[in-house]
Amino acid sequence: MRISMLLPTALLALFACAGRAAAQPEAPVRALIVTAHPDDEAMFAASIYRITHALGGAVDLALVTDGSGGYRYATLAEPIYHLALTDEAVARKALPAIRKRELMEGGRLLGIRNYFFLDELDHRYTLNVDSVLAYVWDTDAVQRRLGKILEQGSYDFVITHLPIPQTHGHHKGATIMALEAVAGMAPAERPVVLGSFISSKTDTSALAFTELPGHPLTRIRTDTPPFTFDRTTSFGANGRLNYKIIVNWLIAAHKSQGTMQLLMNRGDLENFRIFALDAPDAVARTRALFEKLGAAPHPGKAAPR
Ligand SMILES: [Zn+2]
Repeated sequence: MRISMLLPTALLALFACAGRAAAQPEAPVRALIVTAHPDDEAMFAASIYRITHALGGAVDLALVTDGSGGYRYATLAEPIYHLALTDEAVARKALPAIRKRELMEGGRLLGIRNYFFLDELDHRYTLNVDSVLAYVWDTDAVQRRLGKILEQGSYDFVITHLPIPQTHGHHKGATIMALEAVAGMAPAERPVVLGSFISSKTDTSALAFTELPGHPLTRIRTDTPPFTFDRTTSFGANGRLNYKIIVNWLIAAHKSQGTMQLLMNRGDLENFRIFALDAPDAVARTRALFEKLGAAPHPGKAAPR
């Protein structure tokens, strides 16, 4: 009697568990940022903030260079760090540690989970990616390290720079290294690799990009338009706040970057193209991500102005 009374309850509990399992939400998105310099993540900072804060996603960052270059405009950081950072000898020694701290200070605001520092030389400004890959970076070491990070992280997305001709050779190089590492994975295991660029709402110049000459892995899918997140999306009381605030906070964290500070409030749209590398369901997965980025609740209660 006692057993027969218990059985239905046990069965009900079993069915309830099965029901809960069936209704479980899908796993949070996992993304790896691969950038060249500590401040490059500003290009897609609002999207990262949305992934971590609105979708509960996990975002890690792999930084290819040591961040020891670009010191000539560090004038305003000299009294902050009590160092003559515009002097190359001082900068090369001190900036790698300073900029890692600045990166992590900004990353705290974005909700970045983990960092991987590859510490290749941030030698100088150049548009020529081929000389960087041939003579400046240890590309075998970078590719091995990125391969290991990708294997261990099981990422859904890798977020990089779109390697448009006018962007820094280091940016192009970081993207090529990420693409080569993903190309080394089994197709079924590959994350979707996205190339990012910022634009105003009327700037269509980067839409002409299809691939970087001489680097066929950088070919993008032209059968789908860019996916975008609009930094000017409003929220909060009376809709008076928007995501440019987050981007500006991030830029402010990079005190040693000088002219970078002048980019505050610049750029409305964070755009992403899908590289043609064969990742399963790349378009459907990316479309689903950006639909969720736009639709998930924004902070506070948005209301008409
Ligand atoms: Zn950069």
